[in-house]
Amino acid sequence: MTESFTYVNGILHAEQVDVARIAAEVGTPCYIYSAERLRHNYKEFRDAFAGMDIHIHYANKANPNLAVTRVLAACGAGADITSGGELERALAAGIKGQNIIYSGVGKTEVEIAAALKADIYQFNVESMPELHAINKVAAQMGKKTAVTLRVNPDVSARTYKKTSTGELGTKFGIDMVQLEEAMALFKTLPALDFKGFQVHIGSHVYDYEPFREAFLKLAELTHAWRARGYTVERLDLGGGVGIPYDGQSLAPFADYARTVRETVGNLGCQIAFEPGRRLVGDAGILLSRVTYDKQGHSNRFLILDAGMNDLIRPAMYEARHSIIPVKQSGAEQTALADIVGPVCETSDLFGVDYRLPGVGTGDLVAILQAGAYGAAMASTYNGRALIPEVMVSGNQYAVVRRRIAIQEQIDWESVPDWANVATH
Ligand SMILES: *Cc1c(COP(=O)(O)O)cnc(C)c1O
Repeated sequence: MTESFTYVNGILHAEQVDVARIAAEVGTPCYIYSAERLRHNYKEFRDAFAGMDIHIHYANKANPNLAVTRVLAACGAGADITSGGELERALAAGIKGQNIIYSGVGKTEVEIAAALKADIYQFNVESMPELHAINKVAAQMGKKTAVTLRVNPDVSARTYKKTSTGELGTKFGIDMVQLEEAMALFKTLPALDFKGFQVHIGSHVYDYEPFREAFLKLAELTHAWRARGYTVERLDLGGGVGIPYDGQSLAPFADYARTVRETVGNLGCQIAFEPGRRLVGDAGILLSRVTYDKQGHSNRFLILDAGMNDLIRPAMYEARHSIIPVKQSGAEQTALADIVGPVCETSDLFGVDYRLPGVGTGDLVAILQAGAYGAAMASTYNGRALIPEVMVSGNQYAVVRRRIAIQEQIDWESVPDWANVATH
């Protein structure tokens, strides 16, 4: 638990706001974010690299909420985007094009044109066809644009299989074998301005050794291509720094910073970072109410009003979040329970064998570490609303995205006349 979510007189507070009050006024389930925690995380990241020429581009996909993005932007963050939609979101949150980096393997020509129009800082390019596409669109628009090549360093991030991106055989980046050919293209594609290299080896990387391996490869590439007459001015180290989920411990962030300094700190390059989870992960909780305390034949289940459609990480990555009662109780240790949602899938399971003293039907619980890839990955599966998102700062709170209820979703759809024809 972070200092931003603590018990005051036995009741969980988000900063100075009683979360039971938010539950009563906004309803459950809902996400709650701490603005102060966002600021703290940004500052910790920035200060760890004091004295270096760094740019921090918040990976918007971790939590694209406008208010979240704005709080980080106000601290000085730019954005790392992965789609034209995120470009619009970053701009809407007040981030200038010159502070936006565009990553992703499948940028379409329409998206590329929109990014060029916004005069973004840099494209991180992942393939040769993409180099041709950006060159073509930029030339049509009479522009020259900054490009770094995302390389696939073939290192294992040693994290969830589904969030590893730096090994050969994943779809990400240009592998070392093809780099020669990609670099040669810069001589024939005049609308591209080669700036340097990027790596992003995966997400929720909690052992910093793979970063060292990847950054050393970047340093090697920098020396090698400078020796061949290329100017390498920018290195983009991607995101991926993990946070402690339930029961995990993590080396201090200072160790990551030291890894950066030791590997690429003395190359005279400007260093960019694309942190997502590290900035927002522990700044959010998912607040939920127990609908039923069900004693099955062999297991006890606490069935929540939040489900996998609201927070898919446990089902998708087998991630384990800390889950705690909103009201501390003097109750004796209660029986272990599996914490599940209402969705009709066996994988709608937040985790097994949690002990939540005093929690039963009707009580509130908080799922911690829910600020990253929570609301961002939510769906309406099982006819469910998109739940509200709330932000707290000091003793005030605001609903920063309202509930998108079912009637509104029904209004998105339409039924053609011929749907009424019966079979015969
Ligand atoms: C997802 C992603 C990030 C952010 O990852 P985190 O693990 O949230 O820090 C950064 N860069 C790229 C290219 C990504 O795809």
